[in-house]
Amino acid sequence: MRDFSQDHQWLSINTATLRKQWTLDRIIEECAKRGIRAISPWRDQVAAVGLEQIARQLRGTGIALSGYCRGGFFPAVDAAGRQQALLDNRRAIDEAKTLNAPCLVLVVGALPGALTGKPDYTDISRARTEVRDGIAATLEYARQVNMPLAIEPLHPMQAAERACVNTLEQALDLCDELDPPDVGKDTPSVQGRVCHLGVALDIYHVWWDPKLQQQIARASSNPARNRLLAYHVCDWLTPTRDLLNDRGMMGDGVVELKKIRGWIEQAGYLGFSEVEIFSETNWWLKPGEEVLDTCIARHRSAV
Ligand code: ZN
Repeated sequence: MRDFSQDHQWLSINTATLRKQWTLDRIIEECAKRGIRAISPWRDQVAAVGLEQIARQLRGTGIALSGYCRGGFFPAVDAAGRQQALLDNRRAIDEAKTLNAPCLVLVVGALPGALTGKPDYTDISRARTEVRDGIAATLEYARQVNMPLAIEPLHPMQAAERACVNTLEQALDLCDELDPPDVGKDTPSVQGRVCHLGVALDIYHVWWDPKLQQQIARASSNPARNRLLAYHVCDWLTPTRDLLNDRGMMGDGVVELKKIRGWIEQAGYLGFSEVEIFSETNWWLKPGEEVLDTCIARHRSAV
């Protein structure tokens, strides 16, 4: 397992962690100052500054992306709504290309309208079918332009509002169905290519899963197509006071982060550990400098 205690070369900052303190250009500037090599920005933060300006700033600072947040939200009450969602995902892929992201993270969506308190329908299996169809359609374009899609399973407490893909197993089932492991196996031209459909593993959402270790091993069972595309870290606080915006800093909660990193590294994941903390009552209230410095320290001691 890699030693993170001496430096922070594998630290990435998901820029939602600092969304209340700074605009994205300032976040990039502060990350560059601290030798942080990667970020994962959100579309609204990019749009607020300007896509081209952010792309230039990234090239200038040499900061890479560990992912781009986010596409998804496929289900809709009617065909026009689902078409809208596909167009929006296509735009997200184009932005991800401009920013040279290694993958577009998908929060797949759930019951349409539920996020605003008025679900258009309550049939979660319908939502799951629409998610599958939406990913399948988006994957066609993603393959053409070579932009991997990373399905992020969300904790089941968010199954109504944000994502009806709720376990790593469920996400990998989708990957195997839509991007089958055996397709092209005997075709020399596609051997060793990157997989175009994988998963973003976010500790906050998956730490509790009794099948986590087993499914992490499954994600890399085909060495030519490792499904682990991104790894998001934070911690699970006890008690958690808000389902969305009470994520803990690594080391402040109950997740055995080093053990789980051991599993993903064993499965061949050697990319960034991306710190993603939404924290209404704690970290979003602190000075950005303190948050970043704490992320660096905890990346060394707790991740
Ligand atoms: Zn995440």
